[in-house]
Amino acid sequence: MLSKQPVIGIDLGGTKISTALIDSVGRIMARDYRETQAAEGQEAVIERMLDSARRVIAQAEVTQAQVAAVGIGAPGPLDIEAGVLVAPPNLPGWDRVPLKRIIEDALGITTFLENDANAAALGEHRFGAGRGRQHMIYVTVSTGIGGGLILDGKLYHGASGMAGEIGHMTIVPYGPLCGCGNRGCLEALASGTAIARQARERVARGVPTLMADLAAGDPERITAKLVAEAAHQGDAEAREILAEAMNYLGIGMANLVNLFNPELIVIGGGLTNIGELLFGPVRRAIDRRAFRAQAQTVQVVQAKLGKDVGVLGAAAVALAHKP
Ligand SMILES: [Zn+2]
Repeated sequence: MLSKQPVIGIDLGGTKISTALIDSVGRIMARDYRETQAAEGQEAVIERMLDSARRVIAQAEVTQAQVAAVGIGAPGPLDIEAGVLVAPPNLPGWDRVPLKRIIEDALGITTFLENDANAAALGEHRFGAGRGRQHMIYVTVSTGIGGGLILDGKLYHGASGMAGEIGHMTIVPYGPLCGCGNRGCLEALASGTAIARQARERVARGVPTLMADLAAGDPERITAKLVAEAAHQGDAEAREILAEAMNYLGIGMANLVNLFNPELIVIGGGLTNIGELLFGPVRRAIDRRAFRAQAQTVQVVQAKLGKDVGVLGAAAVALAHKP
């Protein structure tokens, strides 16, 4: 029976390719990990993806015919319908690569493509914190902010497959410049990159703070992790930066709560390591700003899949398309 057949998830990133063969309940039966070496160009990278898939098939001692489907989580922008990678910034030189067809032809296994944030949303929904939920918003907060919308039990794609760009909601009209070219996007205010930038500016201005000591006087060494460490040690400047950034994150979430009335917001990504310094302000902003009924309905929880979210998300892409 098809539903019992394993699937392969391939998480294609700018620096690494993670692959796993996964059974229908999300158990990882075999895994492979290698560097993308994106500078070698698309053919070499695709060959590594294929090698990696063949490796997990061999490791799990199944045949290619037994694998139901391959799911790929890849950096956007994508043309989902066509299965094409358009021009991902972290895979230089890739221009409208029909990755779905190439992988499908080489392996002889039906293949599905999804952007990495949407794949992660599907992964948390099927295997992680969102199991059994119908209305879930997934948000990842690390160097950038991304997300995916599970509405009425399904991933919402929008008119051109680009829905769920949570990081690029405008929060402050004339705020800091975002990587997308707009100003005041959530990502420019609340991502790890935004937090580090705020801290660097304060240290460069000579504001007395533990962050300067932790960075040994070199503002370039300041990361969001360092800011969090200073905050944990009680540094007022670091706490203020985090509180402000996480309040912006909460404003973004309150907007989503009013728009979509989710039962669950799942937050993943490296910044969730700061724990209540993230979740506290987010929950408070929702309580203060969203309608009472929606605010009382929604739970805000940490993602569960951790480092496996990439491969499990990619596998969930394959499973989402199976009958
Ligand atoms: Zn933006």
